[in-house]
Amino acid sequence: MTIFQKIIDREIPADIVYEDDLCLAFHDVSPQAPTHVLLIPKKPVVSLDGLSADDGAMAGHLLLKVPEIAKQLGLTNGYRTIINTGEEGGQTVFHLHIHIMGGRSLNWPPG
Ligand code: 5GP
Repeated sequence: MTIFQKIIDREIPADIVYEDDLCLAFHDVSPQAPTHVLLIPKKPVVSLDGLSADDGAMAGHLLLKVPEIAKQLGLTNGYRTIINTGEEGGQTVFHLHIHIMGGRSLNWPPG
């Protein structure tokens, strides 16, 4: 079981900013920007690579929630979304998550 499943199950605490039937968003424990939130599906999908054809509605729901949550967080000057996939993609928690980061100018490329 991943740490994010434990957050969904309320076994460990998190600073939750949004929740509905399909997803949960909470502040990253090690923020890399003034605002750094993780948006995750409640369904335990490992990564983008773990999505299947019948996850389309859930994946679309997640994507549509990003601008809503960004607005709620006050990210009016823009923000960055990142999905790390697999070892070389920098993924460390194997439950699909979208990083939503903002509150400062972010460099590109990320490295
Ligand atoms: P990844 O490297 O897999 O794309 O991102 C995993 C993220 O999860 C990291 O930014 C890390 O700081 C965050 N994280 C890891 N463990 C916890 C935790 O227990 N609580 C919260 N809120 N974030 C966590």
